[in-house]
Amino acid sequence: MKKLINPLIEKLNLKRINDEIFKQLPEEKDRKVFNIDMKYKKHLHGAVSILGVTAAVLFGSFALEYSQTGQNNLFSTKSFTIVADGKEICKIRDASKLQSTLQQIEADLEEGAKLDLVIENDFETIKSKAKDREITENDDLYNVLKSNVNYATLAYSIKINGTDIGAVEAETEAKKIVENVKAHYASNYDPKSIVEVKIIENIEIDQVKVNKSELKTAEELENYIIEGTNEKQKYTVAEGDTYWTIAEKHNMSLDELISANPSVDSEMIQIGEELNLMVPKPLASVEVKRKISQEEQIEFETKYEYVSYMFNDEKTVKQEGNYGTSKIDAIVTEKNGIQIAKVVLNEQVIESPQTEIIVTGTQDPPPKKGTGYFINPLPGSSISSRFGSRSGGFHLGQDMTSPIGTPIKAADGGTVTFAGYSGSYGYAVDIDHGGGYTTRYAHASKLYVTSGEKVYQGEIIAAVGNTGVSTGPHLHFEVRRYGEIVNPANYIGTQYR
Ligand SMILES: [Zn+2]
Repeated sequence: MKKLINPLIEKLNLKRINDEIFKQLPEEKDRKVFNIDMKYKKHLHGAVSILGVTAAVLFGSFALEYSQTGQNNLFSTKSFTIVADGKEICKIRDASKLQSTLQQIEADLEEGAKLDLVIENDFETIKSKAKDREITENDDLYNVLKSNVNYATLAYSIKINGTDIGAVEAETEAKKIVENVKAHYASNYDPKSIVEVKIIENIEIDQVKVNKSELKTAEELENYIIEGTNEKQKYTVAEGDTYWTIAEKHNMSLDELISANPSVDSEMIQIGEELNLMVPKPLASVEVKRKISQEEQIEFETKYEYVSYMFNDEKTVKQEGNYGTSKIDAIVTEKNGIQIAKVVLNEQVIESPQTEIIVTGTQDPPPKKGTGYFINPLPGSSISSRFGSRSGGFHLGQDMTSPIGTPIKAADGGTVTFAGYSGSYGYAVDIDHGGGYTTRYAHASKLYVTSGEKVYQGEIIAAVGNTGVSTGPHLHFEVRRYGEIVNPANYIGTQYR
C-alpha cells in the first residue's frame, strides 16, 4: 500500500511547484507563452516521472518479494496447467514433473495395496502462464494428484442371490459385513438363547476389479444391506408432535413410521429426538431362531346357560371368567425382527383358567312401548314411606326399600326421557309411557339406560342406591298423569289406561 501512495505524492508536489512559478510571472503575454511551454513541459515531465516512479516501484516490489520469498509474483511466466478428465487440477513450471510424480504415486499405491494398479485417468498438460504463487510443487503436487487419481483395484464384492450389492477393499471386511448384518438382528437377545442366525438369500463374496471411486466403506455397505437404501431422512421431534402428526406430515402411514424406528417408543417420543423417515427394506432376510422360556396367559372359555324366565336380550354373569397361566418353552423364529413362527416345545400349566358362565333367557322381549298396565318396579321390596303429607311437607312418591344393587324394572314400556343425576333425586330415570303417563325412579346407584332409549315393561333400567337426598338404600317411585302427581299405590298392578 505504501508503495502505491508514493507516486501520487510525487505528482501532487510537481503540480504545486508549477503553480508557484506561474503565480510569480507578471506579464500577460509572457504568461501565455510560459503557459504553452509549461503545458508541454508539464506533460513530458509528468510522463517521465510517472514511468520512472512506476518502474522503480515495480522493481522495488519485485526485489522486496524476491528477497523475502525467492518468488516472482509480479509477472506471469511460462507454466503448464495439468488437466485430468477435462478438469483443471493445478499449474506446474516443469512439465516433466507430472509424469514423475504420477509414477511415484502409482508405486506408493502398489506398495500400500500389495497389488498391481493402473492409473486410469488421462492427465495432460496445457501451456499457460502463472505467477510463482500459482504453481504447485513437491509434496503439494503429490497430494493434489493423488487425490485426483482414479485407479482400478482388486476388491471384494458381496452378491445377494447373484446381485452385486457393492465392493469393499478387503475380503475380511466383506465377511465382517455379512456377520454384522446378522448381528444387527440378533444382538438384542441373550446370546445363550440364540439357536441359529442365518441369511436366507445366497450370499457370495467374489474378488472383482473395480475402480477406486466405486469402492464402498464397510459401514456404507453394511447400512445399505440393512436399510435397502443409501438415503437418509431424519426428523427431529418438535413440541406438540405426535407419531400421527409426524407420519401425516411426511406422507407415511403410522405403521411405516413405527417400523422405521423399531427402537423408539411411539407413545413416549421426546422433543429433540431424531426419527428415521425411511422405511427399511433390507436386502437380506436374516432369520433368528431362539429358544424362549416364559409365562403366558391362557384364555378362558365362555359358556351360556339358557333359562325360560329371562328375555333373550337379558344376561347375567353367573361365574366370572379368569385367565390361567402357563410356563412355556418354545422356539421362536423371527425374520428381520418380525416373528414368523413359534413352536411350543413344552407347556406347563401353573394356573388353570376359569370358564365364564353367562345366563340368558329364551323369551323374545315384549314390544318396547307402553301396555297400559303398571307392574311393581321393585318386586320383593317393602314400602318405607308412602305418598302424601309427610312431616309438614308432601311426599311426591312412594319409597320402596331393597339392598343396594337390586334391579329396578320399568313399570311399563315406553321411551326414556331422562337418565342422569338430578339434584335431590340423585341418579334418576324418567319414562314416558304414552297416554299422558310418566314414571320416575330415583336415588339409583347405577343407570342401565340412556335418554331417548325405548324400553319394554319389566326391563331392568337401574339399580337401587342411596344417591341424592336419601337416608338409606331405596327406590323413590313417582307416577304423573299429564304432569300432575298421583299416588303410585293406586296404579301399581292396575290397568291405568
Ligand atoms: Zn321418596
